[in-house]
Amino acid sequence: MNVDVSPSFASELLQAGLLIPMGSDGLYARSGLFESVVAGLDVMAGQLGADLHAERLSLPPAMSRAAFEQAGYMASFPQLAGTVHCFCGDEAHHRRLVQKLESHEDWTGEQTASDVVLTPAACYPVYPIIASRGKLPRGGHVVNVTAWCFRREPSRDPTRMQMFQMHEFVRLGTEAEVTSFRAAWVQRALGMAEHLVLPARIEVANDPFFGHAGKMMAASQVEQALKLELTIPVSSDETPTACMSFNNHRDKFGATWDIRTSDDTVAHTACVGFGLERLALALFRHHGLAVSAWPVTVRDAIGL
Ligand code: 5GP
Ligand code: ZN
Repeated sequence: MNVDVSPSFASELLQAGLLIPMGSDGLYARSGLFESVVAGLDVMAGQLGADLHAERLSLPPAMSRAAFEQAGYMASFPQLAGTVHCFCGDEAHHRRLVQKLESHEDWTGEQTASDVVLTPAACYPVYPIIASRGKLPRGGHVVNVTAWCFRREPSRDPTRMQMFQMHEFVRLGTEAEVTSFRAAWVQRALGMAEHLVLPARIEVANDPFFGHAGKMMAASQVEQALKLELTIPVSSDETPTACMSFNNHRDKFGATWDIRTSDDTVAHTACVGFGLERLALALFRHHGLAVSAWPVTVRDAIGL
């Protein structure tokens, strides 16, 4: 998927010091300016949903491995998963580890998988939290959540990072509540792009399910238009970048976590995700690397 990367945009960002390579493709330190654009977009995203009176959650970049397995992430996207391994041996084992380190052998087999994994999307840890509270209130529930996310997709395209920040609104409720939530957010997102003077389009998309069976899952997702994306040309004009997604999970997570509506039916869920770095990169791509030269309305919108 690493197509048509404009080497100039990537190298301009690095030359300007907005992103600073850290020795693994897709892993960057960010300058204060870059992060202030990201932070402004984060606030703007939150304000866009202020009328929903959503429950605010801020998540760490790791989640429980048990919840990750139960959600089906490892089965569907093993190629993207990042698991956390730890050393838990004794003194003899430690000596073996140090020997391997000193002789530059592969020492990673001396570790075992821990009970945490890196969060792949901000909404995954939300479902078991809500499920643990019992039935949803009448009218369902909305969560406004941010998390650092990890996906093992090393790339030189700055829009494809291994670790990035996602701001999501997650809706849990009846099928009708969830469907109208997603439709409303597509319009809100288009309004946000217009406010930021970014050329955006809505497209039907699919998740990168693994393998042959995954191709069929992706085809069915497209056929039912369960995933929509707001795309903006960033690294490439021919292949625009997904900067937001609007996902209707139907009753998948409701059934997985036994989340029930107030009248005891299996809940439907949907989420809308803002890829904060990708939106920031879209601003730099379309308005230039000097924030002082951006349209005043755009700077006002993100508080810069
Ligand atoms: P999704 O769960 O739809 O794949 O991701 C939600 C949003 O997170 C995407 O629309 C995108 O904005 C952002 N995102 C997904 N993958 C990456 C990535 O590799 N790098 C960055 N910076 N953002 C990503
Ligand atoms: Zn989500």
